[in-house]
Parts: sequence; C-alpha cells; structure tokens
Amino acid sequence: MKLLIPGPVTTRAEVRAAMAQDVAPWDEDFRAIYAALRPRLAAIANAPASTHAALLLQGSGHFVVEAALRSLLPPGGRILVPLTGAYAERIVRLARAAGREPMALPIAAGRPVDPAMIAAALAADPTLSHVGLVYSETSTGVVHDPAAIGAAIRAAGRRMILDAVSAFGALPLDLAAQPEIDAVAFTLNKCLDGMPGMGTAICRIDRLQAGAGHAGSWCLDLADVLAQGGKGNGGASRFTPAAQVLLALRVALDLLDAEGGAPGRLLRYRENARALYDGMERIGLSPVLSRGVQGPIVVNVHAPDDPGWDLQRFVDALKRYGYLISNFYDTPSPSFGGGCSGAITPALLSGFTDAAYAARV
Ligand SMILES: *Cc1c(COP(=O)(O)O)cnc(C)c1O
Repeated sequence: MKLLIPGPVTTRAEVRAAMAQDVAPWDEDFRAIYAALRPRLAAIANAPASTHAALLLQGSGHFVVEAALRSLLPPGGRILVPLTGAYAERIVRLARAAGREPMALPIAAGRPVDPAMIAAALAADPTLSHVGLVYSETSTGVVHDPAAIGAAIRAAGRRMILDAVSAFGALPLDLAAQPEIDAVAFTLNKCLDGMPGMGTAICRIDRLQAGAGHAGSWCLDLADVLAQGGKGNGGASRFTPAAQVLLALRVALDLLDAEGGAPGRLLRYRENARALYDGMERIGLSPVLSRGVQGPIVVNVHAPDDPGWDLQRFVDALKRYGYLISNFYDTPSPSFGGGCSGAITPALLSGFTDAAYAARV
C-alpha cells in the first residue's frame, strides 16, 4: 500500500528493513548510534553544536510540541499563535492544557501569515513572550515563512517555538541565522521519510537551561533530556526509546544525504506536488489553493459538489488500487488531499491520479 498522506509517509524498503532486529537500547553499540544521530539532525537545520542540541523524545509529534511548550514557556507564560489551521489549534490546546496562556490570532484562510500582523500583535501586548508558528500547515497545505516572521519576532525581542513537523527534512531552516527560535519540533516519519515513534526538538541550550524546572512533567522535560545527554554516556535515552525507529532513521538520513539533503528532497516534493495538482485538475477535481500559495507537502482538492459523494467509499475504492489517503476532512470546507512527501515520485502520483479517476466513477 502506498501512503499518500503527509505522515506517516511511504518509506523505502531499506528503511523498513533496518528495523528487523532486536536491540538493547543501553548497550554500548546502540549508544554510539544514538549519539551519532543527534548531530546529524542538528546539521539539517544548520544548528551550531555550541548553542543548540537535538533532543530525541519518545512519542508522536504532539508529544514533542507539548514538550517544547512546557520546557521553554514558564507556567502561565503567554504565546501568540497565528491560527493557520488545525495544527495551530493543536498548539493552542496543548499550551492551555499545560497551564500556559495561548493567544490565538485569526488570519486570512489559505494565506501565508503576514509578518506585519505578528509585529503589530507583539507590539500591542508586551506580555507575549513567544510566538508558536506552524511552518507547513498540514491541514491546508500552506507553507508559512519562519525566516520573515522570525525577523519580526527578533525585532520585537521575543522568541519563537516552531512546529516543523511536516517541514523538517525538506523545507529550509537555518537556526544559526535565527537566534530567536527557542525550539524546532518535528518527528522522524514525515519529511525525513522515516518511521513513526520518536520526535525531536532542536533547542537553544541557554534557553532550555534557563527554563529548567518549568516543564511540570518529567517525561516531557527537554531540559532533563539535555542533562541526561550531557552525562558522558553519549546521550543514551532516559527511558526506552523506539530503538528500531532510530535504526531506520540512520538509513533514512543516508538516503536524505544521497538526495542532496533538504534542498534535493524539496525539489522532488515540489515535482510531486506539481504532478498531483496537475493530475487532480485533469480528472476534474479542483485544488483548494491557487498555484501561488500551494505548498509542496499536501495538495487539497474540494470534495465534489455531488450528492452521491462519499469520502469513505472513495478511500475504500482507492485502497483496492493500492493507494491510501486520509478518510477525514481537516479543513473548514470539506476538502481532501494527497501527501507529496515520503518515498514517492511524480510517476507514482500519475498512477494515483488514474486510480482516483477510476475510483470516482
Ligand atoms: C503531523 C503533525 C503534527 C503531529 O502529529 P502526530 O500525529 O502527533 O505525530 C504536528 N504538527 C504538524 C504540522 C503536523 O503535520
């Protein structure tokens, strides 16, 4: 089955094969592997080792986003969240449940966040210490610009927590140039083309240490993960990690390198998005976004305006052709989409388009 969803993505056979073994996570052999993965992840975002640490955490993306919020915002701390879509709403909910105070900022639907709006909101409220931004809003397919928004945040003397879950590994990120970013959160099973089960936060060491004790949770305390990593043991995990997922990541990172790193991967994803966009138009389904704002990760199309339309029936029919898409709507008006990330190519998406045409009739 080919997963045409933004994550967990379709993976290559050699990535999955790396998992077919038993692992003792505290054994010296595995510790060396674990320790070597962290700087490789940091390097993808150009994070200098002197100022930043890539911290691995068990769980899915929400776990690591919550960990970043808890570890970098003090209890009661206030964070501005531009409402880009379903994943921004998750940041609001995670922050509130953790006893932080999110302030949601409505933005125009289907448009990139305007840095001037962020600057104005921060100027109007000096108690907002952070901005929580979703880099690639997976629900809509719109990519927001952390460099331009970060410049506004930096100018206002505030900080950013970046949800790069459906961006990291493909979309550009330069943490050396963006000192206002306290943490970037992501998982291994989206644009890194790896397996689900572990997340990562690349954090500024000084900010994490300044907030040590904030988290109000041992499991989700990134300052504690950092302290454990510094104990001269090469950064063994505090608790049982998804070790096989990390073995798969090692292979997935080799494949990323072979593809030319994030820039090379982004080129392929862009070609995928173009193939999917063109293909959907060809079979009479209309994309939600104009080509100008369409991002390279998810292409959504409007649900057909047809009383007989049933998304689940369409999904089931597509499965018989070997393709899987999401069976829920995640946007205000019903639209469904295809993921362009993962180990897929324009040729595969052309097969998918044919299957989608056949599945509709
Ligand atoms: C996938 C995703 C998440 C996390 O989802 P999980 O199901 O918890 O892994 C968070 N933010 C964005 C933007 C995502 O695409």
